[in-house]
Amino acid sequence: MTVSTSTAPLTATVDLSAIAHNVGVITECAGTSVIAVVKANGYGHGAVPVARAALRAGAAELGTAHLAEALALRAAGIDAHITSWLHAPGADFDAAITADIDIAISSPRQLAAVVAAARRTGTTATVTAKVDTGLGRSGIALDEWPQTAHDLAQAQAEGAVRLRAMMCHLACGDEPDNPLNTEQAQRLDAAADDLRRLGVVPELTHIANSPAALTRPDLARDLVRPGLAVYGCSPIPEQGDFGLIPAMTLTAEVALIKRIPAGQGVSYGHRWIAPRDTVVAVLPAGYADGVPRLLSGRFDAVVGDRRFPGVGRICMDQLVIDLGPDGGGVREGDRAVLFGPTPAGRPRVPTAADWAAAIGTIDYEIVSGVRGRAVRRYVGDGADEAEGTAS
Ligand SMILES: *Cc1c(COP(=O)(O)O)cnc(C)c1O
Repeated sequence: MTVSTSTAPLTATVDLSAIAHNVGVITECAGTSVIAVVKANGYGHGAVPVARAALRAGAAELGTAHLAEALALRAAGIDAHITSWLHAPGADFDAAITADIDIAISSPRQLAAVVAAARRTGTTATVTAKVDTGLGRSGIALDEWPQTAHDLAQAQAEGAVRLRAMMCHLACGDEPDNPLNTEQAQRLDAAADDLRRLGVVPELTHIANSPAALTRPDLARDLVRPGLAVYGCSPIPEQGDFGLIPAMTLTAEVALIKRIPAGQGVSYGHRWIAPRDTVVAVLPAGYADGVPRLLSGRFDAVVGDRRFPGVGRICMDQLVIDLGPDGGGVREGDRAVLFGPTPAGRPRVPTAADWAAAIGTIDYEIVSGVRGRAVRRYVGDGADEAEGTAS
């Protein structure tokens, strides 16, 4: 997905003021500052513009999964603290250390590779101990913790690493009352105590993802580590929107309008047959652009103040909406909103969460999946800079 200042046929407009607003909401709820998670190209919103907007709004630090994502932020001139936590064997820790990336380690093997890189580069590596306190995914496994703690103490004593932070990731953060949340925090505290006994004192602890940052201030510790909420999606839809504003609006230009007679099938397989003479519009948005094919027949698009149902199969490049017998006042070149926030005083626009609910997934997958021919555009505070530099 590229960036253009003009409005492309398929456009993901990202409101950087919404990003800033959301950082403020999270900071207030959590009562601590924010590590804005900008992995996966800022959940599809563009990592560099989002990072800048979040930092301007008071986010203290940034987080990414891959080191390459962190290095790309550095290459764009961002000098904030960045922690990166997903590394495969052969990860370029030399580059990470040279770029002053905080490397979160998930095993004694990763620590050994970081120590070797620190010796090669002659630079003390800043590291975070990412402990698997119950997620069962990445993070230092329980049975490898004693070894890792021992190795950490030794590496710190010889100046190869500086342990800056302890982190863990919640398995059930979106169930605020799940006892596992508290247990995971307790296990992380116990791991920190182990390190203190070995003479290593972590400076910071962070645990909370978006749902926990908004609902469990008791787990906020020194920093919270939200992704989804930064982008304005609710991490617990049953509990409302928490005052967050979705940052992304996906719009498509009406490419073609045509009359079709009653009985005419629409799109592959003729899964929708016009029940009456009607007018349909073709939009240049398809599954190659991140509009899930499973959404066929299960979404509405908004043009002007009216909602029109999607009809027939969503194709690779295009989809069709039914404008009704009178054509709904829609003209070729009008813009259809596929999802986004609802502007004040206007009819409700579908959200990424609506799409997710319709097909049994989560909005994380919808917004981070916008791709292909979709072009990102930036509006709001900082948009001028973003339009010039984003990739
Ligand atoms: C993705 C991720 C986050 C952010 O999670 P959200 O649910 O989007 O807030 C935080 N920490 C880690 C380790 C992650 O992988």
